[in-house]
Amino acid sequence: MGQACDFPFRPEGSPRGSAWRRHPCKRIRLHYNKGMRKRYALMIFGCQMNIHDAERMRGALDAEGWGESGLEEADAVILLTCCVRESAEQRLYGRLSALKPLKEERGVVIAVGGCLAQKEGLGLIDRMPHVDVVFGTHQYPDIALLLAQAGGGGVCSTAMDGVRISGIPCSRREDFRAWITITHGCDNFCSYCIVPYVRGREESRPMEDVVEEVGVHVAEGAREINLLGQNVDSYRRKEEGKSRFADLLVLLGERYPEPWIRFMTSHPRDFDLEIIRAIAQTGNICEYVHLPLQAGSDHILTAMNRGYSRHEYLKKAGELRSIVPGVTLSTDLIVGFPGESDEDFSATLEMVELCRFDAAFTFLYNAREGTSASRLPDDVPAHVKRERLHRLMDVTRRLTYASLCSEVGTEQTVLVYGPSRKDPQRWSARTRNNKLVHFQRSDDDLCGRFAHVNITAAGSWSLHGELVGIPG
Ligand code: SAM
Ligand code: SF4
Repeated sequence: MGQACDFPFRPEGSPRGSAWRRHPCKRIRLHYNKGMRKRYALMIFGCQMNIHDAERMRGALDAEGWGESGLEEADAVILLTCCVRESAEQRLYGRLSALKPLKEERGVVIAVGGCLAQKEGLGLIDRMPHVDVVFGTHQYPDIALLLAQAGGGGVCSTAMDGVRISGIPCSRREDFRAWITITHGCDNFCSYCIVPYVRGREESRPMEDVVEEVGVHVAEGAREINLLGQNVDSYRRKEEGKSRFADLLVLLGERYPEPWIRFMTSHPRDFDLEIIRAIAQTGNICEYVHLPLQAGSDHILTAMNRGYSRHEYLKKAGELRSIVPGVTLSTDLIVGFPGESDEDFSATLEMVELCRFDAAFTFLYNAREGTSASRLPDDVPAHVKRERLHRLMDVTRRLTYASLCSEVGTEQTVLVYGPSRKDPQRWSARTRNNKLVHFQRSDDDLCGRFAHVNITAAGSWSLHGELVGIPG
């Protein structure tokens, strides 16, 4: 979600006694401290969870007097990793190998954390002996201690007992946008997915903690709050026997009616009418739902252990569209799951048309060791998987374009995220329903502010607009 501002960051974090530099768009704080003892460079791979985990690591390191830097000045390089698909894993090993000269020339400490580190443990140091520290998905608050221990042989810390999700210092790069974890881990065990094994069992934060943290971000100027979890819809279900996610949305909307509130990811099994009504009735909950379908045939959905049928998904998608007008519905789809026949794949294509997804992330099935699906024969030939993926992408591209075209001629309020990566002369912004809009920059600094734009044209993935005003 979202597009990061493309200002060339050279931030070095320091909580106290440090000078503050301002990003050109003035809404993003950078701070640095020339007298800093130790410097770290962060390399982040994977999903939004990792981006937010990195904010917490920055918080923990800042509190211990470390400062962030580029690779050239770093005393330690920390990689936050992903292992959801094999391609991500291979890319990571490539990047790790490329860091070897830093170690040999300057003795830089190399630390690898996150999902791949959790999965591999000490095996990662066996494979890459220039790695000093391996830490798992529950060790972010201890990062300074782990770096301090590096030097006397490889350090590995991947215990998964007792996740700490509340009261962790967090160092954000943007004032206007905040990410808040409401659940950690996942209990769903979809048969293809490694996340429950590397992120652990689902734990929800207490509601008062979440509300308090949102309050802090709002007081600091946040205009967009993003609630994060592998499955936000099961928020507090384990603790209280029912999902409290709808209650959380309503409470946050009442308490903090100004900022836009977004959330991800929703799970079709737990996404219910209460949540849909909460979105419709709460003024500042954005009309955007990412609801991964994964596959369109009941046979494959059962084999994936998804916990819903195509009929149930369709019913919920229909209710969402009728109760929340203008909602954007996006999804994830996997092609080539074991046993996927031509008929199964046709059922996926049919579901995509029926649901009219506004956006879709499409993946080739990739067996992950340790998951239950990895014990099934990976029997869809690679060329068939690829051919199906292309056919699927043709359909999803067409639907995305149609969805974008439907906004042309409307006036939209957007939140400006920063200059566009491709063309810094244009602003990059998102509508409430999460559509990307680009428009010409004027002299005003609009980064992190709301703006009114007329939507003038649609491209394949984004909209073009013209600024018509700035709300008072
Ligand atoms: N919790 C979220 C959910 O259920 O949608 C996100 C989980 S996962 C990090 C993001 C997406 O990766 C999944 O929705 C799925 O489509 C895809 N994915 C996960 N495991 C995969 C695998 N083994 N092969 C291909 N795609 C996979
Ligand atoms: Fe993985 Fe399923 Fe959990 Fe999503 S809900 S993280 S796909 S196990």
